[in-house]
Amino acid sequence: MSTLDGVHHVTCITGDAPRNLDFYVRVMGLRLVKKTVNQDDPTVYHLFYGDDEGTPGFDLTFFEYPGARRGRHGDGMVHTVVFRVGAEAALDFWAARLEAEGVAVERDGGALRFADPEGLGVELRVEEVPDRPLPAVAPDVPAEHALIGFAGVRAYAARPEDGASLLEALGMTRGGGGRWDARGDIRGGWIDYEAPPAEHGAPGAGTVHHVAWAIPLGDEDAWQALATRAGARATPVIDRFYFRSIYFREPSGVLFELATMGPGFAVDEDAERLGESLALPPFLEPQRERIEAAVTPLPPLDSLGRPAADRP
Ligand code: ZN
Repeated sequence: MSTLDGVHHVTCITGDAPRNLDFYVRVMGLRLVKKTVNQDDPTVYHLFYGDDEGTPGFDLTFFEYPGARRGRHGDGMVHTVVFRVGAEAALDFWAARLEAEGVAVERDGGALRFADPEGLGVELRVEEVPDRPLPAVAPDVPAEHALIGFAGVRAYAARPEDGASLLEALGMTRGGGGRWDARGDIRGGWIDYEAPPAEHGAPGAGTVHHVAWAIPLGDEDAWQALATRAGARATPVIDRFYFRSIYFREPSGVLFELATMGPGFAVDEDAERLGESLALPPFLEPQRERIEAAVTPLPPLDSLGRPAADRP
């Protein structure tokens, strides 16, 4: 049996796809690796941001509900997405770059914390791990400062021990404090549970919908059976076309997904042209005209410092 290979993707909600795209592509240097729709609600975007190669299993993703009100992070919710950078100098680079964009940053030792335009927590940190870097390099984000993958996520949980036996059954190990590590053969990642604020959380723009953990393609049925045996009310395996998924809520309230590291984003687009046009899984292709009329127009990627001509 495989072991979870860290965070596969984190899916969040935005109320403003153009601003979201501007922040994550132009400012943070991530690549838009798939522009598609929510398969369970195909009138709304599902945008995937990742590294230069569109590596399966490194994606920050957003559903767009245009005009959605800001949510509030609370009990049972992931509130911060933590990315790795290669060295401390990268934190200086990002602090200066974000401040120039009017983003308030907080430096805390080997970490830099800030919020995205809708209040989602973002943290950059240097971690000594053997994982292959997955750089997201942009014309004005040099390779040595680029984001290179996920470190983990921070979540609020009033009763984190409620989920301990399930996390153990999933092969996660305690990492000190409220942290649980999911380290596999390919890479690792973690979730760190903290005491929640007094106010209840509320879903909405800037909040996290779920966190997905990476599993090898082909192991999804075994993982579905394992999660079910461990007491999770897991969905059947769902074919998301770019990966296969199982969903369940862990007992302290965070919605988990297990997602395969493949087939990947190049199944329906040229690897050099990922994200340039609206990609739809085959079952939605008959509705393309209606979907294209419904989704928010987005600026071309070359206006965000991602010139198509730079790609061979
Ligand atoms: Zn997902």
